[in-house]
Amino acid sequence: NPALSQFGTQMSQLTGVRAIMKDIIETLRNSNGRKFINLSAGNPVILPEVEQLWRDCTQDLLASQEYGEVVCRYGSSQGYTPLIEAVVKDFNQRYNLSLSDRNILITPGSQALYLYAANAFGGRTVEGNLRQIVLPLSPDYTGYGGVTLTPEALIAYQPTLEIDEFHHRFKYRPDFSQLQITDQTGCVIFSRPCNPTGNVLSDEEVNKIATLAAEYNTPVLIDSAYACPFPALNFAPMTPQFGDNILHCMSLSKAGLPGERIGIAIGEPKLIQILESFQTNACIHSSRYGQAIAARAINSGALAQISTEIIRPHYQDKIEVLEQTLDEYMPSNLPWFLHRGEGAIFAWLWLKDLPINDWQLYQELKAVGVIVVPGSTFFPGLRGNWQHKHECVRISLTATEPEITKAMKRLAQVVEKVYVAV
Ligand code: PLP
Repeated sequence: NPALSQFGTQMSQLTGVRAIMKDIIETLRNSNGRKFINLSAGNPVILPEVEQLWRDCTQDLLASQEYGEVVCRYGSSQGYTPLIEAVVKDFNQRYNLSLSDRNILITPGSQALYLYAANAFGGRTVEGNLRQIVLPLSPDYTGYGGVTLTPEALIAYQPTLEIDEFHHRFKYRPDFSQLQITDQTGCVIFSRPCNPTGNVLSDEEVNKIATLAAEYNTPVLIDSAYACPFPALNFAPMTPQFGDNILHCMSLSKAGLPGERIGIAIGEPKLIQILESFQTNACIHSSRYGQAIAARAINSGALAQISTEIIRPHYQDKIEVLEQTLDEYMPSNLPWFLHRGEGAIFAWLWLKDLPINDWQLYQELKAVGVIVVPGSTFFPGLRGNWQHKHECVRISLTATEPEITKAMKRLAQVVEKVYVAV
Protein backbone atom coordinates (compact mmCIF):
# COMPACT_ATOMS: atom_id res chain seq x y z
CA ASN A 1 0.00 0.00 0.00
CA PRO A 2 1.27 3.51 -0.76
CA ALA A 3 2.12 5.79 2.17
CA LEU A 4 -0.65 8.33 2.66
CA SER A 5 -0.59 11.97 3.63
CA GLN A 6 -2.65 13.25 6.54
CA PHE A 7 -5.32 14.28 4.06
CA GLY A 8 -5.03 10.99 2.22
CA THR A 9 -5.61 9.09 5.44
CA GLN A 10 -8.61 11.21 6.31
CA MET A 11 -10.21 11.07 2.87
CA SER A 12 -9.62 7.36 2.26
CA GLN A 13 -11.79 6.43 5.25
CA LEU A 14 -15.51 5.88 5.15
CA THR A 15 -17.29 7.76 7.89
CA GLY A 16 -20.64 7.45 9.58
CA VAL A 17 -23.41 5.81 7.71
CA ARG A 18 -21.24 4.82 4.77
CA ALA A 19 -19.39 2.43 7.04
CA ILE A 20 -22.68 0.84 8.17
CA MET A 21 -23.84 0.58 4.57
CA LYS A 22 -21.08 -1.93 3.97
CA ASP A 23 -22.55 -4.19 6.65
CA ILE A 24 -26.04 -3.74 5.21
CA ILE A 25 -24.92 -4.59 1.68
CA GLU A 26 -23.15 -7.70 3.01
CA THR A 27 -26.28 -8.71 4.94
CA LEU A 28 -28.49 -8.36 1.87
CA ARG A 29 -25.96 -10.18 -0.30
CA ASN A 30 -25.61 -13.14 2.07
CA SER A 31 -29.31 -13.38 2.82
CA ASN A 32 -29.70 -16.90 1.30
CA GLY A 33 -33.10 -16.03 -0.10
CA ARG A 34 -34.29 -14.50 3.18
CA LYS A 35 -36.39 -11.38 2.64
CA PHE A 36 -35.40 -8.25 4.52
CA ILE A 37 -37.42 -5.07 4.86
CA ASN A 38 -34.76 -2.51 4.19
CA LEU A 39 -35.43 0.72 6.05
CA SER A 40 -31.88 1.99 5.74
CA ALA A 41 -32.04 3.61 2.31
CA GLY A 42 -31.33 7.27 1.75
CA ASN A 43 -32.01 6.90 -1.97
CA PRO A 44 -35.32 8.56 -2.85
CA VAL A 45 -38.17 6.47 -4.27
CA ILE A 46 -38.49 6.71 -8.07
CA LEU A 47 -41.96 8.23 -8.38
CA PRO A 48 -43.48 7.84 -11.89
CA GLU A 49 -44.48 11.51 -12.22
CA VAL A 50 -41.00 12.64 -11.19
CA GLU A 51 -39.28 10.28 -13.61
CA GLN A 52 -41.62 11.49 -16.37
CA LEU A 53 -40.70 15.10 -15.65
CA TRP A 54 -36.99 14.38 -16.12
CA ARG A 55 -37.72 12.29 -19.22
CA ASP A 56 -39.73 15.15 -20.75
CA CYS A 57 -37.02 17.69 -19.96
CA THR A 58 -34.43 15.39 -21.53
CA GLN A 59 -36.54 14.97 -24.67
CA ASP A 60 -36.92 18.72 -24.92
CA LEU A 61 -33.16 19.16 -24.57
CA LEU A 62 -32.43 16.48 -27.19
CA ALA A 63 -34.73 18.16 -29.66
CA SER A 64 -33.17 21.59 -29.16
CA GLN A 65 -30.23 23.35 -30.77
CA GLU A 66 -28.75 23.65 -27.32
CA TYR A 67 -27.79 19.99 -27.00
CA GLY A 68 -24.31 20.20 -28.53
CA GLU A 69 -23.46 23.29 -26.48
CA VAL A 70 -24.54 21.47 -23.34
CA VAL A 71 -22.72 18.17 -23.61
CA CYS A 72 -19.88 18.83 -26.07
CA ARG A 73 -18.35 21.88 -24.37
CA TYR A 74 -16.87 22.96 -21.07
CA GLY A 75 -18.68 25.75 -19.27
CA SER A 76 -18.06 28.17 -16.45
CA SER A 77 -17.33 26.89 -12.97
CA GLN A 78 -20.16 28.94 -11.56
CA GLY A 79 -22.69 26.88 -13.48
CA TYR A 80 -24.73 26.70 -16.66
CA THR A 81 -26.21 30.14 -17.34
CA PRO A 82 -29.81 29.02 -18.10
CA LEU A 83 -29.97 27.16 -14.76
CA ILE A 84 -28.52 30.10 -12.85
CA GLU A 85 -31.05 32.39 -14.50
CA ALA A 86 -33.90 30.00 -13.72
CA VAL A 87 -32.94 29.90 -10.03
CA VAL A 88 -32.58 33.70 -9.85
CA LYS A 89 -35.97 34.25 -11.44
CA ASP A 90 -37.74 31.60 -9.35
CA PHE A 91 -36.31 32.75 -6.01
CA ASN A 92 -36.79 36.46 -6.73
CA GLN A 93 -40.45 35.87 -7.52
CA ARG A 94 -41.14 33.31 -4.86
CA TYR A 95 -39.36 34.97 -1.93
CA ASN A 96 -39.33 38.57 -3.06
CA LEU A 97 -35.52 38.74 -3.27
CA SER A 98 -33.25 40.75 -5.54
CA LEU A 99 -30.72 38.10 -6.49
CA SER A 100 -28.50 38.38 -9.53
CA ASP A 101 -26.47 35.66 -11.26
CA ARG A 102 -23.55 36.58 -8.94
CA ASN A 103 -25.46 35.11 -6.01
CA ILE A 104 -25.59 31.57 -7.40
CA LEU A 105 -23.19 28.63 -7.61
CA ILE A 106 -24.02 25.22 -9.09
CA THR A 107 -22.05 22.26 -7.73
CA PRO A 108 -21.95 18.52 -8.56
CA GLY A 109 -24.35 17.64 -5.73
CA SER A 110 -24.59 19.54 -2.47
CA GLN A 111 -22.15 17.22 -0.67
CA ALA A 112 -19.40 18.91 -2.72
CA LEU A 113 -20.60 22.27 -1.48
CA TYR A 114 -20.12 21.25 2.16
CA LEU A 115 -16.66 19.93 1.37
CA TYR A 116 -15.66 23.24 -0.24
CA ALA A 117 -17.13 25.31 2.60
CA ALA A 118 -15.81 23.14 5.43
CA ASN A 119 -12.27 23.44 4.05
CA ALA A 120 -12.37 27.02 2.79
CA PHE A 121 -13.88 28.49 5.98
CA GLY A 122 -12.86 25.82 8.50
CA GLY A 123 -9.52 24.18 9.32
CA ARG A 124 -6.08 25.74 9.91
CA THR A 125 -5.39 29.33 8.89
CA VAL A 126 -1.98 30.27 7.47
CA GLU A 127 -1.08 31.44 10.98
CA GLY A 128 -1.90 27.94 12.25
CA ASN A 129 -5.09 28.83 14.13
CA LEU A 130 -7.92 26.34 14.06
CA ARG A 131 -11.18 27.63 12.62
CA GLN A 132 -14.08 25.47 13.67
CA ILE A 133 -16.92 24.04 11.66
CA VAL A 134 -19.85 24.27 14.05
CA LEU A 135 -22.87 21.98 13.88
CA PRO A 136 -25.28 23.75 16.24
CA LEU A 137 -27.60 20.79 16.81
CA SER A 138 -26.43 17.19 17.00
CA PRO A 139 -27.59 14.72 15.60
CA ASP A 140 -27.30 15.93 12.03
CA TYR A 141 -26.36 14.71 8.55
CA THR A 142 -23.72 11.98 8.78
CA GLY A 143 -22.03 13.26 5.63
CA TYR A 144 -20.69 16.32 7.51
CA GLY A 145 -18.38 13.88 9.30
CA GLY A 146 -16.33 13.30 6.17
CA VAL A 147 -16.11 16.76 4.63
CA THR A 148 -13.25 18.34 6.51
CA LEU A 149 -9.58 17.65 5.91
CA THR A 150 -9.06 18.74 9.53
CA PRO A 151 -11.34 16.48 11.61
CA GLU A 152 -10.49 18.24 14.87
CA ALA A 153 -12.15 21.37 13.44
CA LEU A 154 -15.60 19.76 13.45
CA ILE A 155 -17.56 20.49 16.62
CA ALA A 156 -21.19 19.67 17.26
CA TYR A 157 -23.45 20.69 20.15
CA GLN A 158 -25.80 18.58 22.19
CA PRO A 159 -29.40 19.84 21.92
CA THR A 160 -32.13 20.20 24.50
CA LEU A 161 -35.03 17.78 24.30
CA GLU A 162 -38.66 18.78 24.34
CA ILE A 163 -40.50 15.65 25.47
CA ASP A 164 -44.19 14.84 25.21
CA GLU A 165 -44.36 11.80 27.53
CA PHE A 166 -48.02 11.14 27.01
CA HIS A 167 -47.89 10.96 23.20
CA HIS A 168 -44.42 9.35 23.02
CA ARG A 169 -43.06 12.19 20.91
CA PHE A 170 -40.05 14.48 21.27
CA LYS A 171 -38.22 17.27 19.47
CA TYR A 172 -34.67 18.56 19.54
CA ARG A 173 -34.02 22.25 20.06
CA PRO A 174 -30.68 24.04 19.76
CA ASP A 175 -29.26 24.62 23.23
CA PHE A 176 -28.37 28.30 23.08
CA SER A 177 -26.99 28.17 26.62
CA GLN A 178 -24.22 25.86 25.36
CA LEU A 179 -23.78 26.81 21.69
CA GLN A 180 -20.59 28.77 21.09
CA ILE A 181 -20.15 30.77 17.95
CA THR A 182 -17.03 32.88 18.40
CA ASP A 183 -14.18 34.51 16.48
CA GLN A 184 -12.78 30.95 16.17
CA THR A 185 -15.82 29.77 14.21
CA GLY A 186 -15.08 29.30 10.51
CA CYS A 187 -18.60 28.36 9.47
CA VAL A 188 -21.85 26.91 10.78
CA ILE A 189 -23.75 24.09 9.04
CA PHE A 190 -27.09 22.44 9.74
CA SER A 191 -29.76 20.64 7.76
CA ARG A 192 -33.33 21.97 7.72
CA PRO A 193 -35.38 19.72 7.47
CA CYS A 194 -32.87 17.50 9.18
CA ASN A 195 -31.55 14.15 8.02
CA PRO A 196 -31.78 11.94 10.20
CA THR A 197 -34.43 13.35 12.55
CA GLY A 198 -36.97 15.15 10.38
CA ASN A 199 -36.57 18.18 12.64
CA VAL A 200 -37.22 21.63 11.22
CA LEU A 201 -35.55 24.43 13.13
CA SER A 202 -37.96 27.32 13.58
CA ASP A 203 -37.43 30.58 11.69
CA GLU A 204 -36.57 32.20 15.05
CA GLU A 205 -33.95 29.56 15.86
CA VAL A 206 -32.38 29.95 12.41
CA ASN A 207 -32.27 33.72 12.74
CA LYS A 208 -30.78 33.50 16.21
CA ILE A 209 -27.96 31.29 14.91
CA ALA A 210 -27.41 33.54 11.90
CA THR A 211 -27.31 36.65 14.12
CA LEU A 212 -24.77 35.08 16.49
CA ALA A 213 -22.58 34.21 13.48
CA ALA A 214 -23.03 37.58 11.76
CA GLU A 215 -21.17 39.23 14.63
CA TYR A 216 -17.99 37.49 13.40
CA ASN A 217 -18.81 37.56 9.66
CA THR A 218 -19.15 33.80 9.87
CA PRO A 219 -20.98 32.06 7.02
CA VAL A 220 -23.97 29.92 7.98
CA LEU A 221 -24.77 27.12 5.55
CA ILE A 222 -28.39 26.08 5.72
CA ASP A 223 -28.54 22.65 4.15
CA SER A 224 -31.90 22.73 2.45
CA ALA A 225 -31.65 19.33 0.71
CA TYR A 226 -35.23 18.59 1.86
CA ALA A 227 -36.62 22.12 2.02
CA CYS A 228 -39.08 24.06 -0.10
CA PRO A 229 -39.49 24.99 -2.93
CA PHE A 230 -38.02 21.70 -4.18
CA PRO A 231 -38.22 18.91 -3.06
CA ALA A 232 -40.56 20.58 -0.52
CA LEU A 233 -40.15 17.71 1.93
CA ASN A 234 -41.27 19.80 4.87
CA PHE A 235 -44.46 18.66 6.56
CA ALA A 236 -44.41 21.52 9.04
CA PRO A 237 -44.54 25.13 7.80
CA MET A 238 -41.13 26.74 7.27
CA THR A 239 -39.81 29.79 5.47
CA PRO A 240 -36.33 29.71 3.93
CA GLN A 241 -34.19 32.35 5.60
CA PHE A 242 -31.76 34.57 3.70
CA GLY A 243 -29.18 37.07 4.89
CA ASP A 244 -25.70 38.49 4.29
CA ASN A 245 -23.91 35.61 6.02
CA ILE A 246 -26.40 32.86 5.03
CA LEU A 247 -25.64 30.41 2.27
CA HIS A 248 -28.88 28.78 1.28
CA CYS A 249 -27.79 25.38 -0.03
CA MET A 250 -30.05 23.19 -2.11
CA SER A 251 -29.90 19.81 -3.75
CA LEU A 252 -31.96 18.35 -6.59
CA SER A 253 -31.24 14.82 -5.35
CA LYS A 254 -34.45 14.40 -3.37
CA ALA A 255 -36.36 16.03 -6.23
CA GLY A 256 -35.56 12.97 -8.28
CA LEU A 257 -32.16 13.82 -9.72
CA PRO A 258 -29.52 12.25 -7.44
CA GLY A 259 -27.77 10.62 -10.38
CA GLU A 260 -27.11 13.94 -12.10
CA ARG A 261 -25.47 15.57 -9.07
CA ILE A 262 -26.90 19.07 -8.81
CA GLY A 263 -26.30 21.27 -5.78
CA ILE A 264 -27.17 24.96 -5.68
CA ALA A 265 -25.78 27.60 -3.32
CA ILE A 266 -27.41 31.00 -2.97
CA GLY A 267 -25.56 33.71 -1.10
CA GLU A 268 -23.47 36.87 -1.18
CA PRO A 269 -21.07 37.09 -4.17
CA LYS A 270 -18.03 37.30 -1.84
CA LEU A 271 -18.90 33.86 -0.41
CA ILE A 272 -20.00 32.38 -3.73
CA GLN A 273 -16.68 33.38 -5.37
CA ILE A 274 -14.62 31.56 -2.74
CA LEU A 275 -16.58 28.37 -3.25
CA GLU A 276 -16.48 28.77 -7.02
CA SER A 277 -12.67 28.92 -7.06
CA PHE A 278 -12.56 25.84 -4.84
CA GLN A 279 -14.77 24.10 -7.37
CA THR A 280 -12.58 25.10 -10.33
CA ASN A 281 -9.64 23.46 -8.59
CA ALA A 282 -11.61 20.38 -7.59
CA CYS A 283 -13.59 19.45 -10.67
CA ILE A 284 -14.05 22.46 -13.00
CA HIS A 285 -17.85 22.26 -13.01
CA SER A 286 -20.96 20.15 -12.55
CA SER A 287 -22.45 18.07 -15.36
CA ARG A 288 -24.12 20.40 -17.84
CA TYR A 289 -26.68 17.85 -19.00
CA GLY A 290 -28.16 17.72 -15.49
CA GLN A 291 -28.08 21.50 -15.27
CA ALA A 292 -29.83 21.93 -18.63
CA ILE A 293 -32.74 19.67 -17.72
CA ALA A 294 -32.98 21.24 -14.24
CA ALA A 295 -33.27 24.69 -15.87
CA ARG A 296 -36.28 23.45 -17.85
CA ALA A 297 -37.99 21.88 -14.84
CA ILE A 298 -37.57 25.04 -12.76
CA ASN A 299 -38.53 27.49 -15.52
CA SER A 300 -41.77 25.70 -16.34
CA GLY A 301 -42.76 25.61 -12.67
CA ALA A 302 -43.16 21.83 -12.94
CA LEU A 303 -40.48 21.01 -10.39
CA ALA A 304 -42.03 23.12 -7.64
CA GLN A 305 -45.49 21.81 -8.49
CA ILE A 306 -44.50 18.12 -8.53
CA SER A 307 -42.63 18.68 -5.27
CA THR A 308 -45.70 19.85 -3.39
CA GLU A 309 -48.26 17.69 -5.20
CA ILE A 310 -46.40 14.39 -5.54
CA ILE A 311 -43.15 14.19 -3.59
CA ARG A 312 -44.28 15.73 -0.30
CA PRO A 313 -47.57 13.76 0.02
CA HIS A 314 -45.76 10.52 -0.81
CA TYR A 315 -43.49 10.75 2.24
CA GLN A 316 -46.01 12.48 4.46
CA ASP A 317 -48.40 9.54 4.03
CA LYS A 318 -45.59 7.18 4.99
CA ILE A 319 -44.67 9.00 8.20
CA GLU A 320 -48.34 8.95 9.17
CA VAL A 321 -48.52 5.18 8.63
CA LEU A 322 -45.36 4.74 10.68
CA GLU A 323 -46.68 6.92 13.52
CA GLN A 324 -50.02 5.11 13.62
CA THR A 325 -48.37 1.68 13.63
CA LEU A 326 -45.99 2.58 16.44
CA ASP A 327 -48.78 4.19 18.47
CA GLU A 328 -50.81 1.03 18.12
CA TYR A 329 -48.13 -1.61 18.65
CA MET A 330 -45.41 -0.11 20.85
CA PRO A 331 -45.95 -0.86 24.54
CA SER A 332 -47.27 2.36 26.06
CA ASN A 333 -45.49 1.71 29.37
CA LEU A 334 -42.05 1.85 27.73
CA PRO A 335 -40.11 5.11 27.30
CA TRP A 336 -40.09 5.22 23.51
CA PHE A 337 -40.17 8.56 21.74
CA LEU A 338 -40.55 9.32 18.08
CA HIS A 339 -39.09 12.59 16.87
CA ARG A 340 -41.77 14.90 15.50
CA GLY A 341 -41.98 14.15 11.78
CA GLU A 342 -41.61 17.65 10.39
CA GLY A 343 -39.85 16.73 7.14
CA ALA A 344 -37.22 14.75 5.18
CA ILE A 345 -37.57 11.06 4.31
CA PHE A 346 -36.78 9.46 7.65
CA ALA A 347 -38.28 8.77 11.06
CA TRP A 348 -36.08 8.95 14.16
CA LEU A 349 -36.88 6.78 17.14
CA TRP A 350 -35.41 7.29 20.59
CA LEU A 351 -35.58 4.41 23.09
CA LYS A 352 -34.77 5.97 26.43
CA ASP A 353 -32.68 3.83 28.82
CA LEU A 354 -32.49 1.10 26.19
CA PRO A 355 -30.77 -1.87 27.91
CA ILE A 356 -28.63 -2.59 24.81
CA ASN A 357 -26.89 -0.15 22.48
CA ASP A 358 -28.08 0.99 19.05
CA TRP A 359 -25.68 -1.34 17.23
CA GLN A 360 -26.98 -4.34 19.19
CA LEU A 361 -30.56 -3.27 18.49
CA TYR A 362 -29.68 -3.05 14.80
CA GLN A 363 -28.47 -6.68 15.00
CA GLU A 364 -31.64 -7.78 16.85
CA LEU A 365 -33.78 -6.15 14.17
CA LYS A 366 -31.73 -7.78 11.42
CA ALA A 367 -32.52 -11.12 13.06
CA VAL A 368 -36.25 -10.48 12.45
CA GLY A 369 -35.65 -9.29 8.89
CA VAL A 370 -35.73 -5.53 9.45
CA ILE A 371 -32.85 -3.23 8.60
CA VAL A 372 -32.64 0.25 10.12
CA VAL A 373 -29.61 2.47 10.67
CA PRO A 374 -28.07 2.63 14.17
CA GLY A 375 -28.36 6.19 15.40
CA SER A 376 -24.86 6.68 16.76
CA THR A 377 -23.57 7.32 13.23
CA PHE A 378 -25.45 10.61 13.10
CA PHE A 379 -23.51 12.58 15.67
CA PRO A 380 -20.45 13.76 13.72
CA GLY A 381 -18.35 16.21 15.69
CA LEU A 382 -20.05 15.56 19.03
CA ARG A 383 -17.51 15.15 21.82
CA GLY A 384 -18.10 13.57 25.19
CA ASN A 385 -20.24 10.69 26.27
CA TRP A 386 -23.94 11.09 25.75
CA GLN A 387 -25.94 7.95 26.39
CA HIS A 388 -28.71 9.22 24.08
CA LYS A 389 -26.36 8.68 21.09
CA HIS A 390 -26.71 4.92 21.59
CA GLU A 391 -30.48 4.90 22.08
CA CYS A 392 -31.72 5.94 18.64
CA VAL A 393 -32.33 4.46 15.19
CA ARG A 394 -33.10 6.04 11.82
CA ILE A 395 -35.95 4.51 9.84
CA SER A 396 -36.20 5.29 6.13
CA LEU A 397 -39.57 6.18 4.63
CA THR A 398 -38.57 4.86 1.21
CA ALA A 399 -40.12 1.40 1.77
CA THR A 400 -43.77 0.77 0.82
CA GLU A 401 -46.57 1.38 3.34
CA PRO A 402 -47.24 -2.36 3.90
CA GLU A 403 -43.50 -2.89 4.45
CA ILE A 404 -43.34 -0.02 6.93
CA THR A 405 -46.35 -1.38 8.82
CA LYS A 406 -44.94 -4.90 8.96
CA ALA A 407 -41.49 -3.68 10.00
CA MET A 408 -42.83 -1.43 12.77
CA LYS A 409 -44.88 -4.32 14.21
CA ARG A 410 -41.74 -6.44 14.32
CA LEU A 411 -39.75 -3.58 15.79
CA ALA A 412 -42.36 -3.16 18.55
CA GLN A 413 -41.98 -6.82 19.47
CA VAL A 414 -38.18 -6.65 19.50
CA VAL A 415 -38.19 -3.50 21.62
CA GLU A 416 -40.58 -5.04 24.14
CA LYS A 417 -38.43 -8.16 24.39
CA VAL A 418 -35.26 -6.11 24.86
CA TYR A 419 -36.63 -3.99 27.73
CA VAL A 420 -38.30 -6.96 29.42
CA ALA A 421 -35.12 -9.05 29.23
CA VAL A 422 -33.43 -6.99 31.97
N1 PLP B 1 -27.43 17.08 2.95
C1 PLP B 1 -28.32 16.23 3.46
C2 PLP B 1 -29.06 16.63 4.69
C3 PLP B 1 -28.54 14.99 2.86
O1 PLP B 1 -29.42 14.14 3.40
C4 PLP B 1 -27.80 14.64 1.69
C5 PLP B 1 -27.97 13.34 1.05
O2 PLP B 1 -28.60 12.44 1.53
C6 PLP B 1 -26.89 15.57 1.20
C7 PLP B 1 -26.73 16.78 1.84
C8 PLP B 1 -26.05 15.30 -0.02
O3 PLP B 1 -26.85 15.30 -1.15
P1 PLP B 1 -26.32 15.56 -2.62
O4 PLP B 1 -24.83 15.60 -2.61
O5 PLP B 1 -26.87 14.43 -3.42
O6 PLP B 1 -26.90 16.89 -3.02
